[in-house]
Amino acid sequence: FAPWDDPTQRPLIQFKGVTKRFGEFVAIDNLTQDIYEKEFFALLGPSGCGKTTMMRMLAGFENPTEGQILLAGQDMAHVPPNQRAVNMMFQSYALFPHLTVWENIAFGLKRQKMPRHDLDERVDEMLRLTRLSKFAKRKPHQISGGQRQRVALARSLARAPKLLLLDEPLGALDKKLRQDTQFELMDIQEKTGTTFVIVTHDQEEAMTVASRVAVMDEGSIIQVATPANIYEAPNSVYVADFIGDVNIIEGAATRTAEGYDIAWAEGQPPFHAKTPVVLGNGGPAYLAIRPEKISISAEKPDDAGNTVRGRIIDIAYLGNISTYHVEIPGGTMIKAQSANTRRLSRRSFTWEDEVWLSWTDTAGIVLER
Ligand code: ATP
Repeated sequence: FAPWDDPTQRPLIQFKGVTKRFGEFVAIDNLTQDIYEKEFFALLGPSGCGKTTMMRMLAGFENPTEGQILLAGQDMAHVPPNQRAVNMMFQSYALFPHLTVWENIAFGLKRQKMPRHDLDERVDEMLRLTRLSKFAKRKPHQISGGQRQRVALARSLARAPKLLLLDEPLGALDKKLRQDTQFELMDIQEKTGTTFVIVTHDQEEAMTVASRVAVMDEGSIIQVATPANIYEAPNSVYVADFIGDVNIIEGAATRTAEGYDIAWAEGQPPFHAKTPVVLGNGGPAYLAIRPEKISISAEKPDDAGNTVRGRIIDIAYLGNISTYHVEIPGGTMIKAQSANTRRLSRRSFTWEDEVWLSWTDTAGIVLER
């Protein structure tokens, strides 16, 4: 397993024991976390977990009740929002309707009294970066939603902030455009080398764009890792469940030479898991398995590592894949996904079919209860 944090990265932002209270209510709870230079960092979590509060503290709209936030090594405590090398792009974009695209992008630069020649050059550079040169003279109502989003981005990057905060930046776009725009956002982040922190409700979006994802719950960060590690090596049932789809089997773990045996139902052989997570000597545990790591077959497969018989209760056909809900002994429901790589001339399995589920010893993750 790759280390979850790369120690060679230089922190741009440092949260040091940051707590934010609103009256009695603890919105951020003693949080310590670095965000690196040039990184694309995503905050994910359910409504009310403190994502916006973190962003607002970075922008300087709120101050920590306790602890420190450093930007490039400097304590931000008494630095007002307009004097921070930080900008925030809001979901609403907040473009000036009566100004042209060019003037919208130039607005902040004019206010900081940038010399005319430099200003022209900078605005043109931003227009090129966001592929808006053709639309420079139009007003916001004369361009598309995707183009407006790019104007907002160009405007927030014009003053070359070290940190750009993106609050649901693609929330106003439809799904297809949103996906295209994600790649554009990554491209622009890379070209400018600006640190981006994004808040989004769309976990797929966070996984697509971010170099690291922080999963939050009730004012704390539960895990920070690359998208692949968040998905493949969640540190808790909470994270496993929050990101993607997962089967959680309750059991009792016993240490073996290579990992754990998980006793999960009376009279059934245990499941095996080779796992990097160490639970001491075992005990109550959860076995987490992603549905796409479970194969479904009519015959019992040899050498699968884990096999269990079950009955199909439900089938969801999703085009590229199908999800089968299979009841195994003891009444546990397991979701197994298979890719529909061939044209379905007939359904390979149907309701009430008795099938075998199988997965390898490395497919499951053992988590503490
Ligand atoms: P969402 O995804 O819904 O935007 P969030 O994760 O961004 O949620 P925050 O807006 O950071 O959540 O809010 C965290 C908690 O702090 C919430 O319970 C919220 O009600 C509370 N909170 C935020 N701002 C204030 C405030 N000014 N006064 C009192 N409570 C607040």
